[in-house]
Amino acid sequence: MIRLASVSVDLDSLKCYYRIHGLGEPPPELERVVLQRALGRFAELFARHQVKATFFVIGEDVEHDPSSRAELSALAKAGHELANHSYSHPYDLASQSREFVEDEITRAHQIIAEISGSAPVGFRAPGYDVSKTIFDVLMKLGYRYDSSVFPSWPYYVAKLGMMAAMRLFGQRSRSALTNPRALLAPAMPYRPGASPFVRGQSMLVELPVAVTPGLRLPVIGTSLLLAPTAARVRLLESMRKRAFFNLELHGIDLIGADEDGIPTELVQKQPDLRVSLQHKQRALEATLDRMAPDYIIQPLCKIATRVQREGLAKAQ
Ligand SMILES: [Zn+2]
Repeated sequence: MIRLASVSVDLDSLKCYYRIHGLGEPPPELERVVLQRALGRFAELFARHQVKATFFVIGEDVEHDPSSRAELSALAKAGHELANHSYSHPYDLASQSREFVEDEITRAHQIIAEISGSAPVGFRAPGYDVSKTIFDVLMKLGYRYDSSVFPSWPYYVAKLGMMAAMRLFGQRSRSALTNPRALLAPAMPYRPGASPFVRGQSMLVELPVAVTPGLRLPVIGTSLLLAPTAARVRLLESMRKRAFFNLELHGIDLIGADEDGIPTELVQKQPDLRVSLQHKQRALEATLDRMAPDYIIQPLCKIATRVQREGLAKAQ
């Protein structure tokens, strides 16, 4: 069996994490830390492993940032894919009006097209939540795929618990709970239908974020980097039963609390910041080493083309 994999990085800024945890705004000097520090670390890591990845870019973060634009443009020239992660990362995008959604997606689309020299064809929604309206806008813009559906029960329950705990302490998360129908969505690439979460005939392909067979445990950067080595190996091992492994990472996965001066208020709330940068780097190196012999790793746009051209049989 040919196993396909993609590695993608959501370039969420520190602002996103401050919002999730109801902490207000980050210190201004750290607003761009993910683009300034983590992006280069990912570029080096992927170059060492000869991985061509997909970077999901937030439009407003790079709109007036010449150095990040130059870095992203160089990555695009080197064969990485730049894809759309909305203009301002609103966690409630899926419940917004058509006009709002169109504005968020189109503005980011234009900025990313300028940077990469070609129009983006892929989208990932903030907070994994999508709607029919989002898919309609993507299709109108000629997108080939969405990669937001994350059909993981354990993840959903954990998020529900975190948000309930915050309410109990009178705090308000800006994060939104995903549509529970997503939990029943296929875990392998599919063409959506009338709803984003069921199979249909749409030309837009959905490439769900990786979950294990059976229990649907999340296999994303956070779970791989926080798990003890033996558990990480087991998670990766169980993904070998699937023909496609959509590994989603976040910029913060290569940020170190000490190395990058992240304030304690955020470190206390964000468990992956309590792990050292060196540990995270080693865990990611080990993950890519383990994947290397078993997978053909391609940017998500190539997987989407493959699914569109060859149907779903070979991707499953
Ligand atoms: Zn994000």
